[in-house]
Amino acid sequence: MYWEKYYFAQSIEETLELLKHYEGDARIMAGGTDLMVQFKYNYLSAKVMVDIGRIKELNHIRQENGHVSIGATTTHTALATSPYLQKHFQVLASGVRTIGSPQIRNAGTIGGNVANAQPAADGSIALVALGATICGISPDGPFSRPIESTFLNPGECALNSTAELITSFTFPAPGPRDRSAFVRHSRRAALALPIMNMGLWLRLNEEEDGIEDARIAIGPMARVPFRAKKTEAFLRGAKLSEAVLDEAGELTFEEVSPRDSFRGSAAYKKELVRVYLKRAVLEAVGERSVGK
Ligand SMILES: Cc1cc2nc3c(=O)[nH]c(=O)nc-3n(C[C@H](O)[C@H](O)[C@H](O)COP(=O)(O)OP(=O)(O)OC[C@H]3O[C@@H](n4cnc5c(N)ncnc54)[C@H](O)[C@@H]3O)c2cc1C
Repeated sequence: MYWEKYYFAQSIEETLELLKHYEGDARIMAGGTDLMVQFKYNYLSAKVMVDIGRIKELNHIRQENGHVSIGATTTHTALATSPYLQKHFQVLASGVRTIGSPQIRNAGTIGGNVANAQPAADGSIALVALGATICGISPDGPFSRPIESTFLNPGECALNSTAELITSFTFPAPGPRDRSAFVRHSRRAALALPIMNMGLWLRLNEEEDGIEDARIAIGPMARVPFRAKKTEAFLRGAKLSEAVLDEAGELTFEEVSPRDSFRGSAAYKKELVRVYLKRAVLEAVGERSVGK
């Protein structure tokens, strides 16, 4: 066995007490889809596991006080099949629907996806596009910070999962002119990590013929989920047209600097973002909304 003790925590308080008691020897376990692989190949070890899967308040999707709150142990299946997210936050529902296989999505959680800190994790990319805040509790008390500040390096997160617990992710409630989309390129439709994935969030202008605000997250284009800020700035205030979207694709092409990997060359990944930026916008707003 990979560990000596395994606890099913019944509450957030009990989780924090256990983590404190074992002083770094205990680690949070959610769906285990990343952890079990890491234990098997000795990338990680822990004497004590604290399973948070039975804590009801960590498992929710709700809108409250102008915000949406997604509990850390909400599974990818629950997010992908939520009618509320499908209607208002296509980027998140579609993004997590691409993860692994049904078995992985049934067990894997959004909190684990973020804490694992991969630059192209599909859930993380979607949450960055939504401008999410990560909420949790550390030994010093509750914290909330922008999700982007959590990612340090591939597999390295500012959060210490032997002492700190992510409780939820929050982002602003949907506005009537908000649109979003998730696009992804991989070798197969299932059980394949992305060669490129992109989360896009847009707010249309009042006339709905142009863009008021935009957020674009792309992986794996850097050591952490990448924000295409130059393209975002270009799109703010732009009218929706084929020409504008072609120019935006060029800008995204220019601002990403991926590396060669066994999944694809840097040049190929750059071409992908050029093509997919336009596709993402068209998917978000609908092709008929875009002029020549
Ligand atoms: C075959 C396979 C295919 C996959 N395909 C994809 C894919 O296509 N796209 C993709 O993005 N991912 C993929 N993954 C990765 C994985 O499924 C996800 O990252 C998953 O969301 C991790 O969640 P989990 O609940 O299983 O995390 P766990 O394995 O339980 O935990 C992962 C890490 O997060 C920490 N942690 C978990 N929850 C919390 C919390 N609430 N607070 C603090 N720390 C926490 C743990 O201590 C651990 O360090 C795949 C994995 C496998 C095995």
